[in-house]
Amino acid sequence: MSTVYLDGRFMPIAEAKVSAMDRGFLYGDGAYEVIPVYSRRPFRLAEHLARLRHTLEGIRLANPHDDAEWVRLIGEIVARNEGDDQSVYLQITRGADTKRNHAFPARVAPTVYILSEPLVTPPPAQREQGIATISAPDVRWLRCDLKAISLLANCLLRQQAVDAGCVETILFRDGFMTEGAASNIFAVRDGVLLAPPKNNLMLPGITYDVVLELAAAHGLPVEVRPVAEAEARGADELWMTSSTKEVLPIVLLDGRPVGDGRPGPVFARMYAWYQDFKRTVMRAGE
Ligand code: PMP
Repeated sequence: MSTVYLDGRFMPIAEAKVSAMDRGFLYGDGAYEVIPVYSRRPFRLAEHLARLRHTLEGIRLANPHDDAEWVRLIGEIVARNEGDDQSVYLQITRGADTKRNHAFPARVAPTVYILSEPLVTPPPAQREQGIATISAPDVRWLRCDLKAISLLANCLLRQQAVDAGCVETILFRDGFMTEGAASNIFAVRDGVLLAPPKNNLMLPGITYDVVLELAAAHGLPVEVRPVAEAEARGADELWMTSSTKEVLPIVLLDGRPVGDGRPGPVFARMYAWYQDFKRTVMRAGE
C-alpha cells in the first residue's frame, strides 16, 4: 500500500483522513502540484516549487514550508514508495474551520497532503497513431495561471472529451487558443512551432518550458505569441503536453483531421528530443 504524508506524519494511504470541514473539501480552496519523478529523481523540483509559491501567493495562503523542507518531504515520499518512476502529488488547503464561511478563518493550520502514484507514460498507440480531441469555449476563471485545486471546470471539460471518445478538450477564449483541459497545446505551421504566451489564461507548464528549450537547442523556429483559433484549426500539427502525457500528437479536432491526419514530422523530431532528454538529463537528476 502506498505511503502518504498528511499534516506532519507519514502513513499508509488507507489511514489518511481529513476533516469534513476542510476548506479544500468545502470550497476547493487550495493549491497543488504534480511532480514527475524519473529514476527516483524529482524533475525540475525547484521550478515546481516556484510555481507552487506563485499559486500560494495568488490565493493568499502562506507557504507552510520553505523549499528545503519541501525537498526533504518529497524526497522521503519518493523513498517510501515503490517504483523508480513516480508522480508526486502535493496539495495544500486553507485548513479546517469550525463553521462554514467563505471568508478566510482567522487562525487555522493549512492541510498538507503528499501522495505518490506510479508514473505511467501514455500507451505507445497514442504516440504512434495520434490522439483525437474536441474543442470547447474556455469557461474557466481568469486566473488559470494558478494551480488551484478548484478544478470543476477542467473536470467538466475533460469529461466532454471522454464522452466523445477523445483524449483532450482544446480550449478557445475570445478567438484564441489557451490550452487543454489538463495540458498545454502547441501548433506547427509551415515548420514553425507556435506557443501561446504565458499569461493569466493558461497554466505555465513545466513540460511547455522543456518543449521550448528543446526547440531552441535544436534550432526549430519558434514563435511565442497568441494563436488564433483559425490558425490552430488550420495547423499542420497540434501537440498536447503535460508532465504525465509528455508530448502527444493530435490528429483529430472536432472530427476533422489536423494536417494530413497523421502525427507530423516536427512532432517526430520533438518526441525523439524529449526521449533523449529524459534519458540523459531527467534520469540523471539534472
Ligand atoms: N495546463 C493545465 C490546465 C494542466 O492541468 C496541466 C497539468 N496537468 C498543464 C497545463 C501542463 O503542466 P505540466 O507540464 O507542468 O504538467
